[in-house]
Amino acid sequence: MLRENLENVEKNITLACEKAGRARQEVTLIAVSKTKPVSMLQEVYQAGIREFGENKVQELSEKQPSLPQDIHWHMIGHLQRNKVKYIVGTVSLIHSVDSLRLAEEISSQAVKKSLCQDILVEVNIAQEESKFGISKEETFQLVENISKLPNIHICGLMTIAPFVENPEENRIYFRKMRDLSVDIAHKNIDNVDMDILSMGMTGDYMVAIEEGATMVRVGTGIFGERNYQIV
Ligand SMILES: *Cc1c(COP(=O)(O)O)cnc(C)c1O
Repeated sequence: MLRENLENVEKNITLACEKAGRARQEVTLIAVSKTKPVSMLQEVYQAGIREFGENKVQELSEKQPSLPQDIHWHMIGHLQRNKVKYIVGTVSLIHSVDSLRLAEEISSQAVKKSLCQDILVEVNIAQEESKFGISKEETFQLVENISKLPNIHICGLMTIAPFVENPEENRIYFRKMRDLSVDIAHKNIDNVDMDILSMGMTGDYMVAIEEGATMVRVGTGIFGERNYQIV
């Protein structure tokens, strides 16, 4: 089942890339494995996936030792400052940085461990009350402030678009993210890259790719529905 799901997702990514005139290699698929057992992650790994996304520090730390070392882990969920020490240096990319205080903690833990932590700044592009992330207006200032911290490197932006029935409704938000990313890139801030645009989930990743996503985070589309009761 997982292999078939993956093939479908892969086919859709290829289609969206073709439609947008983009190369398939421009888009990285992250398999979002939250709530799913290690056995399922192993199956997806065997099918060739090396990028996995988790949204909880504890779950990520528990799964990591049971899986191959060449996996790139992505922290995609809201991150509390007191948990930062557990994941700095163990994940390739933290997608969910939305405050200077959080970035300062990541920076200080990275200094302690003598490494550089790659991060994305999370933007609440649709200004939803229920979502984390900073506003579009605050983004430039936050990026500039974080850029001055040691041992932390901004690689781009991330957003979680609204939950919608019709993915076309999110096109405008993906486009706004892309514009914001281009605007920031043009400022040429030291120690800041805007190479990564992490946007698009199971319901809307094709539209996100058409609008410039370079990372899509797909959970349900690969692993099936999540059952939160058994976790
Ligand atoms: C759960 C989650 C996803 C994946 O959601 P699906 O709709 O299952 O693809 C992507 N991004 C974040 C931040 C998530 O928490």
